[in-house]
Amino acid sequence: MDPETAAETAEAGHANGRATPSRESVRQLLFGDRWDYAPAPESTAHVRWAKRYGHFIDGAFVDGTDHFASINPATEEVVARFATADRKVVNRAVAAARRAYEKRWQPLSGAERGTFLYRIGRIIQERARELAILESIDNGKPIRESRDVDVPLVAAHFLYYAGWADKLDCAFPGAKVRSLGVAGQVIPWNFPLLMAAWKIAPALAAGNTVVLKPAETSPLTAMRLAEIFDEAGLPPGVVNIVNGAGDTGAMLVAHKDVDKVAFTGSTEVGKSIQRALAGSGKRLTLELGGKGANIVFDDAPIDQAVEGIVSGIFFNQGHVCCAGSRLLVQESIVDTVIEKLLDRIATLRVGDPLDKNTDVGAIHSRVQLDKIEELVQSGVDEGARMHRPACRLPDRGFFFAPTVFTDVAQSHRIAQEEIFGPVLSVLTFRTPEEAIAKANNTPYGLSAGIWSDKGSKLFKIAGALKAGVVWGNTYNQFDPASPFGGYRESGFGREGGLHGLLPYLEVR
Ligand code: NAP
Ligand code: MG
Repeated sequence: MDPETAAETAEAGHANGRATPSRESVRQLLFGDRWDYAPAPESTAHVRWAKRYGHFIDGAFVDGTDHFASINPATEEVVARFATADRKVVNRAVAAARRAYEKRWQPLSGAERGTFLYRIGRIIQERARELAILESIDNGKPIRESRDVDVPLVAAHFLYYAGWADKLDCAFPGAKVRSLGVAGQVIPWNFPLLMAAWKIAPALAAGNTVVLKPAETSPLTAMRLAEIFDEAGLPPGVVNIVNGAGDTGAMLVAHKDVDKVAFTGSTEVGKSIQRALAGSGKRLTLELGGKGANIVFDDAPIDQAVEGIVSGIFFNQGHVCCAGSRLLVQESIVDTVIEKLLDRIATLRVGDPLDKNTDVGAIHSRVQLDKIEELVQSGVDEGARMHRPACRLPDRGFFFAPTVFTDVAQSHRIAQEEIFGPVLSVLTFRTPEEAIAKANNTPYGLSAGIWSDKGSKLFKIAGALKAGVVWGNTYNQFDPASPFGGYRESGFGREGGLHGLLPYLEVR
């Protein structure tokens, strides 16, 4: 008997005067504490990695000095140690990229360059399982996401841009295009492999060579990607990867022989890079932070919207620049939406990233956990109302329970600042005009979501939102053919799609 029928039968039995259990007790019996999942750990037995890494320069893994540890945020154990690239190493990597640009990559035809990108995409697909496991170990994201979202998108990016490599001449009708030279690229820790793919694939398709610096807390999969480049036979020096912290990134972007800089990370560092590059003639794109509004109108399909709200803020522990971290709900439906949302959140499983049932994995670092805790405390102190499901967090590692704030004012820090964690701030509105004004009331301008059953309304509101990406009746959907990027303090330039080629090309 299905649960609904069981509950109804119980009620009917009661009406007949028979001593049958109440509807609530049947529900408790069917769904109560018994509805536990057995552990479903992903096996890591077949995945090997080194204890120490240097850098990947001119097609070779080279030793380095001054090693630092990357840890597994779910266990706090050291995953591996990585060298720090100093000025000499950065010079070496840029020189290798320059040589490769002139002698190996430029002389190839677009079709030949595309062949390498196809090959890389195919190898990523073949090695998807291993990549997903390594990503979850070093980053803390649930295996379900690294396996079903990150890694497939990484492969899709290489395959998509492979298709453009031999079509650059007709990509922008009426214009002639040419590559820029050496691209210096710096990426954050929240989607280590995916950000590397977003940077490397369009750069190579447009005919440039690359020096990439991964984030210091999640460099493992970039090293595995280097192995894949090697396996694909990519000519030496076309992609170079230097490890290190912010200083290494600063040296790379300011290097005089780098022609194009692409940065994804915090608004603060983005601004410092923009200042450092001013007047240098280097091309620059910045993908920075966000405080996305997810707007639910009273004519929205509410159950679907609740799913979208959940994936909008709890996907990747909320470590998502385009997260729907501000929920704007039309006042007439706010009670229903909150009730359904809290019910749904109570079912999220928080814990071991390598368990296939886990919905919310580990917070990426102690630093990030401290930042989330500080901002959540500010929400409580400023008078917002906190809701959190009862869930047991693992004893070690960095974890944070999904959290929702109601009674949030626009002036609260939790409504203004990027939390970059599993924390949702709920605000309300009465009219579409008020929704637009509130959604735009942020220094950022990266993303937004709109939920309504009226197509015309979706388009009208989308046009009025100051956000680079607006989803209609969905959230956090990514596709390599679709451009992504921000306005204002969320940065400038687009990644993905045809637009994503432009920052790597000179158009004449
Ligand atoms: P971050 O501190 O800005 O770091 C990003 C990258 O820059 C890391 O590789 C970092 O190295 C490096 N870096 C630090 N200081 C630098 C400097 N002065 N010059 C050059 N590079 C430097 O940001 P994060 O904490 O890693 O990432 C979280 C932020 O990124 C969030 O604000 C989020 O919104 C944003 N983000 C935006 C997007 C987007 O597409 N718009 C995507 C993902 C994340 P270390 O790792 O050693 O610090
Ligand atoms: Mg790590």
